[in-house]
Amino acid sequence: MTTLPSWQNEVDGGRKVGGMVRAALWLLTEVGEGNIFTKAELRAAFPEASQIDRRIRELRDRGWRIDTSRDDPSLKQEEQRFVSQGAQVWVPGQAKAPKHKNSLTAAQRQKVFEADSYLCRSCGIAAGEGYGDGDGLTRSVLNIARRKVLLPDGSEEYEFVTECKRCGSGSGDREVDLGALLEHAENLSPMERTVLAGWIAKGRREPEPIEKVWGIYQTLPAASRTAFAGALEDAAESDGESGENADSSGW
Ligand SMILES: [Zn+2]
Repeated sequence: MTTLPSWQNEVDGGRKVGGMVRAALWLLTEVGEGNIFTKAELRAAFPEASQIDRRIRELRDRGWRIDTSRDDPSLKQEEQRFVSQGAQVWVPGQAKAPKHKNSLTAAQRQKVFEADSYLCRSCGIAAGEGYGDGDGLTRSVLNIARRKVLLPDGSEEYEFVTECKRCGSGSGDREVDLGALLEHAENLSPMERTVLAGWIAKGRREPEPIEKVWGIYQTLPAASRTAFAGALEDAAESDGESGENADSSGW
């Protein structure tokens, strides 16, 4: 076995050694395969590296197996286990991310596309469609994007979603907080939740009556807007004065 470069070398042959490479060397020489390390130990070894957690994730993308408490329940939350080494990232040419880091099989990709009805989940465009915004030449290309999902129990996992090239470009690794979203949903009124469940069942959002009225109001000429607003105020006032006509939808 050849001697490994030191993980402490920040510069090698006049070139800066990247955080991922140094983290890999640290795991091999300081932790050792099969052993446990904590986030605190990792941060103590790389106090200057703000994104050291990210470097560990990059190693995972290069075949390094580093388990968290989610993969291995015997680990505590702050612990990770360096299970096995992947690509020799300190060797020139070995540090490149694999081309398909999603590494889905053709069948898996097909399943994601099917689940999303072959439509971009962000903008709704189908494959090969024009965007219809003046740029008549651009046709959509559908890809499968990886989404990091923070689960309500605090753990995270990656899920796959159909996304067109335009929506995916520049967005980087998007992540979604499912727990926070559920919390927002819980704070909705029962009526709002029923409406939301209806949209979900239909797969699209129907405008509510109040939104239809608002939409038309917005297009009115100024005089009509003023007249409408005044009439609405009168209606609200008379509703407040006499409860007898609570069901009046006559305005
Ligand atoms: Zn899109």
